Amino acid sequence: MKCALITGASRGIGRAVAIQLSNDMNLHIIINYSSNETAALETQKMIQENGGTAELLPFDVKNSEQVSSSIAEWFTNNPDKKIEVLVNNAGITRDNLFPWVTEKDWDDVLNTSLKGMYNCTQAVIQKMLRNRSGRIINIASLSGLKGVPGQTNYSAAKGGMIAATKALSQEVAKRNITVNAVAPGFIISDMTNELDESELKKMVPANRFGKVEEVAHLVSFLASEKAGYITGEVVNINGGIYS
Ligand code: NAP
Repeated sequence: MKCALITGASRGIGRAVAIQLSNDMNLHIIINYSSNETAALETQKMIQENGGTAELLPFDVKNSEQVSSSIAEWFTNNPDKKIEVLVNNAGITRDNLFPWVTEKDWDDVLNTSLKGMYNCTQAVIQKMLRNRSGRIINIASLSGLKGVPGQTNYSAAKGGMIAATKALSQEVAKRNITVNAVAPGFIISDMTNELDESELKKMVPANRFGKVEEVAHLVSFLASEKAGYITGEVVNINGGIYS
């Protein structure tokens, strides 16, 4: 049975990706989250209501020990299943102008997005290499390409993810594994719910924030067979705000 592991799938973009991959590719979904079990169960219910299957696998992507032991235990308990798709989606923001960015806020943001990507990818890549197939999709950000003031930590984390995506894609392409990044602009989710959409949308040529489902369709395409020759790419999804 083919599976997709999506980090931070309890809410927002991760939840939408989980539902879309279940619908489009009939994959068994492994829903990762850090603390919000109620939301993760809701994602599972939404997948099951659509006729799909899903299970919960909580761990903190920052914690290498937790990630490796949880995923290793999952492999031991599921010898008949393969993780075909990994979506490194878990991420946080701790915005501030640089002089006020504490070391903790710097570390937490980098450790969630960038170290989290390392931890989760490390835990699945050997099996993908042995299976000679896999899809890794990293949810980066416009901030990682353009750099956004007030987000030096987040821009560094997402920029690092983009560079690692390009490097890793070249290492594993021969084994039929693609590694791509998606760089969303403003997307409606809990992460952006305190932003003033009516004001900020004026910066966006499409004159609106994006929807999580729109990001999920892009991720689903990159995860599909059809995208087999696309690797090392960063795909913008931002309503035209940056290209
Ligand atoms: P969100 O609604 O705040 O959801 C964040 C998700 O990440 C939740 O499922 C949360 O789990 C999980 N998470 C956070 N820290 C974690 C950790 N240490 N370990 C495991 N899971 C963790 O965020 P979102 O807007 O969907 O963002 C998803 C991704 O897209 C992030 O990487 C973000 O940087 C990126 N992105 C978002 C936007 C945007 O405008 N929304 C734009 C560009 C990029 P719990 O529910 O357990 O807390």
